Amino acid sequence: MPEAETTTMPPFETLDLDDLHGDLTRVAGMIADRIAHIADAPVVHPASHDAIVAAIPGDLPVEGIGVDAALQEVADHVAPFATRIGHPRFLAWITTSPAPAGTIGDVLCTGLNQAPLSFKGGPAATVLEEIVLGWFHRLLGFPEGAGGTIVSGGTMANLMGLTVARHAHFPEVGTRGLCALDKTPVLYVSDQGHMSIERSAALLGLGSENVRAIPSDAACRIIPEALRERIRADRAAGFAPFCVVGQAGTVTAGAVDPLDALADICADEGLWLHVDAAYGGAALLTQHGRSLLHGIERADSVCVDPHKWFFIPLECGCTLFRDRTVQTDTFKAKAAYLGQESPHDLKNTTFILSRANRALKVWFAFRTYGTAKLARIIERNMAQARLFHDLCTESPEWQVLAPVALSIACARFVPSAMAGAPHWDEAATDRLQVALLQRLEQSGEGFLTPALVRGRAGVRLCVANHRTTDDDIRMLFDLMSRFGRELAALGPEGLHA
Ligand SMILES: *Cc1c(COP(=O)(O)O)cnc(C)c1O
Repeated sequence: MPEAETTTMPPFETLDLDDLHGDLTRVAGMIADRIAHIADAPVVHPASHDAIVAAIPGDLPVEGIGVDAALQEVADHVAPFATRIGHPRFLAWITTSPAPAGTIGDVLCTGLNQAPLSFKGGPAATVLEEIVLGWFHRLLGFPEGAGGTIVSGGTMANLMGLTVARHAHFPEVGTRGLCALDKTPVLYVSDQGHMSIERSAALLGLGSENVRAIPSDAACRIIPEALRERIRADRAAGFAPFCVVGQAGTVTAGAVDPLDALADICADEGLWLHVDAAYGGAALLTQHGRSLLHGIERADSVCVDPHKWFFIPLECGCTLFRDRTVQTDTFKAKAAYLGQESPHDLKNTTFILSRANRALKVWFAFRTYGTAKLARIIERNMAQARLFHDLCTESPEWQVLAPVALSIACARFVPSAMAGAPHWDEAATDRLQVALLQRLEQSGEGFLTPALVRGRAGVRLCVANHRTTDDDIRMLFDLMSRFGRELAALGPEGLHA
């Protein structure tokens, strides 16, 4: 062999690091420090998108800088701009303060890096998923033979539920497409339904217009009589009703539909009942939640998000099926390259093939804390939403927009109630709510998102946070009242000046 060739052979390389132990210890320190000081800086960093683009190195690196320098870049240019989602006054959307044991579980999940598409790719991961699904079955009151799958979040979980619902009623669609049907399938959800229902319908080829928005009552719950009426009208007009979606914790007000009434209607009409309990499912750990969500045990499929009110870090959603066989009939996946089949292969439980072992972080957090402790925190969160609601009720400056069912309170600051204040019509008052929330965000003291309830804007406080104290709630109320007064004094014209 010519000598020149052997000397130019590149050395054998791997991607291993010289001191992984030390690097991971440093990462652990960064995470623990961040959590320990979660409330020590503004909830949302005020930097603009342009400023962050300028700060974070974005060129494709041909030669790497090494792990120490890369970690320093995270510390200097990434972490500072990260929103403090675990801050006790981060009460936006339904985005939870992650439980540190869930964070540990997530780190372990990445570290063990299992591939539970097939049993052989993650035997323990497969069993962990079965265990966690079993816990949720018990929570829901589902029978023996129930199934489920753990996915990225509620949107995916609702999509999985509706995919199986479609398959159960129109199995030919999977092979011959929607054009094989002689009637147009329609499904039903309240006008408070989560947007993932319409988006799923669009994705499944059902069409978002074939999701019927059924009116809700003053407490934002679906009106069962209106649903019955609409199903009757649709049948008469030649449509094929196949599914009702109940909301157990609406995304705006946290309202819970009368699930027993929906189950009755579905039984009478032969429809699939899917319950979107992405947020409200966690309330099943409490007495109040169990009575509020009564009837959920009669659903065909249920979406529950561990990354909502179970305090699990992103991402983690879950669909539970009353009957496992319909689920696996929908998703059965066969290919020679996947290897020997096992009845425990998770590839047959969902549309996704490769995926993370998300069950591990749920299992780890539940093992660490126990459901009794989680239940106490969920109950406290409910009481805190009621506290905010009561403060608003007692104040002439605030108007409550919806009752509190779970842990969301929606209210509107009303400047017209103040003597001598400039005149504020409804539209200007709507704009004031947005300005008020901006002031709160700019103060760094809290972060809440807006609500639109029956056409009226307000602030929306969602307590899915294990660090929030009652004093945090009072402080937010006082602060927002002060900002409201200051904005009100500017008058509607001065609002955007
Ligand atoms: C959050 C939520 C969803 C969507 O879940 P993601 O995890 O955000 O995709 C669906 N429905 C309800 C009621 C929710 O609260």
